[in-house]
Amino acid sequence: MGSENRPLRMFFFPFLAHGHIIPTIDMAKLFADRGVKATIITTPLNTPIILKSIQSFNTLIQIQTIDFPCAQVGYPQGYENMNSIPSPDLIHKFFEATTLLQDPLEQILQQSLPDCLIADMFFPWATDSAAKFGIPAIVFHGTGLFALCAYECLRLHRRYDHVSSDSEPFVIPNLPGEITMTRSQVPDFLKYNEDTIVSRLMIASKEAELTSYGVIVNSFYELEKDYADHYRNFLGRKSWHIGPLSLYNTKTEEHECLKWLDTKKPNSVVYVCFGSVTSFPDSQLRQIAMGLEASGQQFIWVVRKSKKDKQEEEWLPEGYERKMEGKGIIIRGWAPQVNILEHRAVGAFVTHCGWNSTLESICEGVPMVTWPVYAEQFYNEKLVTEVLKIGVPVGVKKWMRMTGDGIKREAIEKAVNRVVEGEEAEEMRNKAKVLALQARNAVENGGSSHSDLNSLIQDLCRRRSPLEEVKF
Ligand code: UDP
Repeated sequence: MGSENRPLRMFFFPFLAHGHIIPTIDMAKLFADRGVKATIITTPLNTPIILKSIQSFNTLIQIQTIDFPCAQVGYPQGYENMNSIPSPDLIHKFFEATTLLQDPLEQILQQSLPDCLIADMFFPWATDSAAKFGIPAIVFHGTGLFALCAYECLRLHRRYDHVSSDSEPFVIPNLPGEITMTRSQVPDFLKYNEDTIVSRLMIASKEAELTSYGVIVNSFYELEKDYADHYRNFLGRKSWHIGPLSLYNTKTEEHECLKWLDTKKPNSVVYVCFGSVTSFPDSQLRQIAMGLEASGQQFIWVVRKSKKDKQEEEWLPEGYERKMEGKGIIIRGWAPQVNILEHRAVGAFVTHCGWNSTLESICEGVPMVTWPVYAEQFYNEKLVTEVLKIGVPVGVKKWMRMTGDGIKREAIEKAVNRVVEGEEAEEMRNKAKVLALQARNAVENGGSSHSDLNSLIQDLCRRRSPLEEVKF
């Protein structure tokens, strides 16, 4: 069969965490919609969440499983997702196990010889694996262009080594927009030259950006123009921005909270959620509870805790939920976030600035209270509050490891009210609505993300032709 007659075959290899798997599923759907045969590679315990999301695509998107090699590194069985690591001390073992996925990946690539591999940034070695079989690998970071540029400018210039204290602001060199940071907001693995598996993977992923076929970014040009140009022209990365990927997720879930939202006025509810990994000590959760109550705003608050029988939960002030009845809802566990954000009753989002959450909020025109904790979340905060001006910071001073802390209820109350009430809030909401419209235009026919996607598909089709003659 001639190469022009058969669909492109693309393999997707997301990191084992919800924040990476979710946009990868949306990306696979996007490519499948364009006639690409997509295969997602993952481990057995991550398969159900993917299967559930691709039901209507079952002939176009397939799943290939590889076993999670936990025994080899002494990591307990049954926790194959970053969101379920049983103890924070096991995080490095979890990452170590993921590096052992290289051999099984290579077996799959050798057997299937796809036209392209899209591999997560935490699998930088996948670029070399794909190269062994003449397959182009594309890196998927799952974050935006501002964060990619900010991180690279920080890493290359190490300006934070030349400040007199952790709290002295410095301008990130060579980054458009005169963006300031403090050393305490810089990730530990950068400022302390840590030699851990995660820091090694982070460095290797920067190298993979250059040695791979290019980088796919979940963003759209109009959102981060200066940084899209900077990334391509100044930092020299070949990139395609094809997002927001969440716009391809059109599923409406059933959930009580959506019915509750139906009874509320437009823009009258604050949604509070810190993603799929971040946690807080009980003392911080109590401050959040009191801050929300003091703000007087209605809210939906997602907490990553399960309900313990009928006894009072220590992390909540006594009788809190009863007192808040009608005014606020607490969801323990998983919330239908995209459906909540797109509800007209939701007027603000208190977020940890994970990139998926940030982009989902932008897509729905919802201004934010920014509460970054770790990873690249501090850069996302800068983008939201200083560049786009569609959010206010709650005032986090320090990069932490997945567990946030140190924010008092008064700061929460103040930031929440600032983003909901008054002229400044109105201005932020208007700006956010313009961006939401631009996001939709970007993915429409002729839009910037649509064009980038076309150009990537054309590149891959052109590229495979000469190889195809060898293969067939
Ligand atoms: N999410 C969700 N319900 C929840 C928590 C999170 O649907 O209760 C989704 C959210 O919509 C987003 C992803 O999980 O798509 C979280 O990704 P993000 O990059 O924001 O943060 P991470 O979890 O990676 O820290």
